Amino acid sequence: MQATGGELGWLTWPLDQGDKPGWEVVQRTLNGSQLYTYSVCNVGEREQDNWLRTTFIQRQPAASRVFVELQFIVRDCTSFDGATLTCKETINLFVSEADADVGTTFRKGQFKKVATIAPDEITGKNELRINTETRVVDNLLRKGFYLAFQDNGACVALLSVRVYYKTCPATVQSLASFKETVAAGENKDLRKVIGECVDNAVSEEQPWIFCTVDGEWVVPVGQCQCKAGYEKVDNACKECPEGFFKPTASGDSCQPCPAYTQKQGTGAESCPCLEGFYRAQTDSEMDPCSGLPSAPRNLVASTTQLSAGKLLLSWSPPEDTGGRSDITYSVECQRCDGLVCQTCGEKIRYDPSSSGLTDTRVSVSELDAHLNYTFTVEAHSGVSAYAPQLPSTSALTTSLHYTEPPKITTMRLVERTPTSLSISWDVSPKARVQPRAFRYELMYRKNDANSDVTTYTVLILDKDSVQVSDLAPATAYMFRVQAVGIDGSHGSSMEEQFETSSEVIFGAALGGAAMLFIVAVVLFLRRRGSHVRQGPEDTYFSKQLKPLKTYVDPHTYEDPNTAVMKFAAEIHPSHITKQKVIGAGEFGEVYRGILKAPGRKEVAVAVKTLKPGYSEKQRQDFLSEASIMGQFSHQNIIRLEGVVTKFKHAMIITEYMENGALDRFLRDHDGEFPSFQLVGMLRGIAAGMKYLSDMSYVHRDLAARNILVNNTMECKVSDFGLSRVLEDDPEGTYTTSGGKIPIRWTAPEAIAYRKFTSASDVWSFGIVMWEVMAFGERPYWDMSNKRGFRLPAPMDCPSAVYQLMLQCWLQDRSKRPKFGDIVPLLDKLLRSPDSLKTIADFDPRISIRLPSTSGSDGSPFRSVSEWLESIKMSQYSENFNRAGVVTMDQVMQMKNEDIKNIGVRLPGHLKRIAYSILGLKDQTSTLSVFAV
Ligand code: AMP
Repeated sequence: MQATGGELGWLTWPLDQGDKPGWEVVQRTLNGSQLYTYSVCNVGEREQDNWLRTTFIQRQPAASRVFVELQFIVRDCTSFDGATLTCKETINLFVSEADADVGTTFRKGQFKKVATIAPDEITGKNELRINTETRVVDNLLRKGFYLAFQDNGACVALLSVRVYYKTCPATVQSLASFKETVAAGENKDLRKVIGECVDNAVSEEQPWIFCTVDGEWVVPVGQCQCKAGYEKVDNACKECPEGFFKPTASGDSCQPCPAYTQKQGTGAESCPCLEGFYRAQTDSEMDPCSGLPSAPRNLVASTTQLSAGKLLLSWSPPEDTGGRSDITYSVECQRCDGLVCQTCGEKIRYDPSSSGLTDTRVSVSELDAHLNYTFTVEAHSGVSAYAPQLPSTSALTTSLHYTEPPKITTMRLVERTPTSLSISWDVSPKARVQPRAFRYELMYRKNDANSDVTTYTVLILDKDSVQVSDLAPATAYMFRVQAVGIDGSHGSSMEEQFETSSEVIFGAALGGAAMLFIVAVVLFLRRRGSHVRQGPEDTYFSKQLKPLKTYVDPHTYEDPNTAVMKFAAEIHPSHITKQKVIGAGEFGEVYRGILKAPGRKEVAVAVKTLKPGYSEKQRQDFLSEASIMGQFSHQNIIRLEGVVTKFKHAMIITEYMENGALDRFLRDHDGEFPSFQLVGMLRGIAAGMKYLSDMSYVHRDLAARNILVNNTMECKVSDFGLSRVLEDDPEGTYTTSGGKIPIRWTAPEAIAYRKFTSASDVWSFGIVMWEVMAFGERPYWDMSNKRGFRLPAPMDCPSAVYQLMLQCWLQDRSKRPKFGDIVPLLDKLLRSPDSLKTIADFDPRISIRLPSTSGSDGSPFRSVSEWLESIKMSQYSENFNRAGVVTMDQVMQMKNEDIKNIGVRLPGHLKRIAYSILGLKDQTSTLSVFAV
């Protein structure tokens, strides 16, 4: 709509003005180029009213607002000589709307003024100044319009007129394309424009945007997103490249196909699983596909001690979970009688359930005794339902022969004498009971309600009859008998009263039911008042008497892992922090560490490890120590915290004993503790041993090196490995009978014919007493000595303590004290310090704490330092030197006072040096030995 040509055909008015025409086309040269202008310059004339009207301008229907841009030149009125008062420097812009071209018809009255236009710069005589002004013509309604320029006496040249309207240009925003849109008029609402998603993009809500008055797009609403298989690249949706996929319409980009899926061509919406891999319904297309879990491992069954008819199945998670964490297990049971198997049916109860188990254990109850059950455990995962294969491929089978101890049905008196009662009993069911699958526990006591002390005796028997002797004549005894399974389960018991006869029968033969072992327990039940007859002791026998706990040899379990599981808590290795190596065990290093179990506070622990490259047998031997230790609970027995068995590196976690092994500890503190403190330590060891012997556990390797000491100097018995005596103990010596035995600590009958009993443990305890009183000295034992030779009293050893040692070393093992006697005896000594004052005779010449009274080659000591070294007192070399004692002759002259004066203060050291000097003086005396 630019009017630049010379013959635009614009209308001028008035049409004829004689010699002073109004607007006319004038050719001008501007900046070297020719152009046409509409000009008028009737300056100084009167009453000028010159109009120039454009041709009809058709309006774009939406464009109600147009812009009129003028380029023009105005002459400066003052540049005319004799400037007139009528000279103007402005023109007026008019508009007139019409629905059709009215041709040459012109009526001033139809025009509306739009604006008066003044130049910014006026042109003087010499230079031309071009002005550009834009005016808005708003609210246009009709099909077209005319513009008109009115001149009232200015000198004006119109160079160009540009009429335009504004649009928002076609655009693509947020994957929506919007068409070119005419901007709205002033004071109108913003123009809302609906867009369309670009190719391969979709949107839930129609996208739209506003076009402003100024032709700008603002506030896009509604998102278009590339559909599945496409992603946004610049302003378009492109296909996913090969090996990539996009499952839904989204703003996301394409992702590489996940693990275990088939790679696809371009534009993939999903990547299907590789053969043998699956997705669960709940898995997303983004998840990798997963395989089926492999079979559960290490399925074991164990009977639970508390209730009959019940067993615990447990297993380890499958080696390969197929990459999933939603593993569950199901259990199936088959009952087999001979070769015929059938499903166990609904009678069997599973706790928590038989399927959907997330734990690797289930307890099964309501089982019948003496039947073979086969349990199949399957591992399932979220994809099991989608796999065509049967899940039974991931199953393990185990059979368990479960034996319930029978119940006692009748008890009868077979024979009685004034001092003995023979009784027998029947059990049900009788048939099918496996021999040695259980033992009988018989308890009896005097039926004497008046007694303050209830003494009952417990016999463990493997026959269904017994003769009990050493009874009082004409006395009523209560007997209770019960079958106890090897797993500790109890059958129901029966109780009867029988009375010994009053007349004396001579020559009553005391035959014997086979007694496995006899444990006597004395219970002191204090009455709360003298009036109570039916006191606790009356009901005790039948109700409160708990079965005596006995040690269960892990070997009785077919699968040693079952024993570990039964007696030791499994600890997750992440709860253990190893800090530093503190020792070397048979199977690997021993560490100090920290155990932080969830919900419990941190505890210092010892961590025994199993060195790499072990065999399964070694692993079982290693863990057997935990199966044994786990059965004990006593202040003076090293406490088991738990085991790590489900991970590659098996570990045994025990309480931490700050002062380590007792022999070492005492050697490091030689002479530093008074006797009562040493006796206190022995008392602890004896208490631990009493507990073990009460449990019918024979230690076989009791020695100071196997006692651990904590920071309060409490001593605890340790080292319970099954193979330990054979392989572990460096003190082990091969005997003629083939085994390896720590000779110096072992009772003669155990050396001679491997008779290991609590009595042989008592012998070893005597050696430990000696080790302790001698501050960790190595026991002197000359194998060439025949029977009857005993260790001499260590230096400063209280006589009473040495006497007890000698009792422990009695040849006849039945005469040795029991641990049950030793504990109260040591207690008594501790209670009366005077009892420790009498010191046993000490012969310095044979003390191995003073290994020789001459140099190593038998010649006399050549120097004071050589002598001091031989008695491990080198730390005093400097003291002797300073005092001028430099020859052995001078040493021989020293009195106790002199030794003290040169600075030997510790009584133990003082004595050691004094005794050594005594020995040096009496080199000719013969060696005396202590015979008992
Ligand atoms: P063992 O294999 O039981 O003979 O242990 C070897 C060594 O490790 C022992 O001699 C001790 O020095 C040390 N040790 C074992 N258990 C513990 C513990 N619970 N506390 C401190 N030290 C221990």
